[in-house]
Amino acid sequence: MDKLLKQLPQWASDKKAENKKFFAKLRKKPPKNLDYVMQELHETEFERTDCLTCANCCKTTGPLFTNSDIELISKYFRMKPQQFIDAYLRLDEENDYVLQEVPCTFLDADNYCAIYDVRPKACREFPHTDRKKFQQISHLTLKNVAICPAAFNIVEEMKKRISL
Ligand code: SF4
Ligand code: SF4
Repeated sequence: MDKLLKQLPQWASDKKAENKKFFAKLRKKPPKNLDYVMQELHETEFERTDCLTCANCCKTTGPLFTNSDIELISKYFRMKPQQFIDAYLRLDEENDYVLQEVPCTFLDADNYCAIYDVRPKACREFPHTDRKKFQQISHLTLKNVAICPAAFNIVEEMKKRISL
C-alpha cells in the first residue's frame, strides 16, 4: 500500500485533464441513475479496500470540525468545547475549524482512530463517493483522487461505466 500511496499523486495528475473533462460533462448532464451507479461503485470498491492498511486521508488531510463535532468530541474527552478547540484545532482561511497538524493526532500507530465512535462527520463520509448528486462535488473529488486510492479507482470505474 505504501508504494501505491506514493504513486497516487502522479497517477491523479496524469488523469487530471481527462477527469476534469469527464466531470464537466457529468455536471451538465448527469445520468438519471447516477445515485444508484455511485452506490454500487462505492460498495464494490470498499469491499476490496481495507482503510486500516491505508489511512492516507487521516495522514495527509484533516477533516473540518463542525460545531456538533466539537461538542460531541469534547464531551467524549470530558473537556469544555473551548478547551478542546485550544488543544487540537485552528481556524483555516475559510474560518472553519481544522486540525492543528496532520497526521491527525487521533490516529494511532496501527491506523485506528482513537475517537472512532465520535469522529467528525467529514471523516465518516470521506471520500463522499456514496453521496447523492455526486456531480455536485466534482471539484472535491478531483482533489481526493490524489489522496484516496478508493476514490481514484471509483472515478476510473465511473469513466468506464458512464458514457456521456
Ligand atoms: S477513505 Fe480512502 S484515503 Fe481514507 S483510508 Fe480509506 S482508502 Fe485510504
Ligand atoms: S478523527 Fe479519526 S478518522 Fe478523522 S482524521 Fe482523525 S484519525 Fe482519521
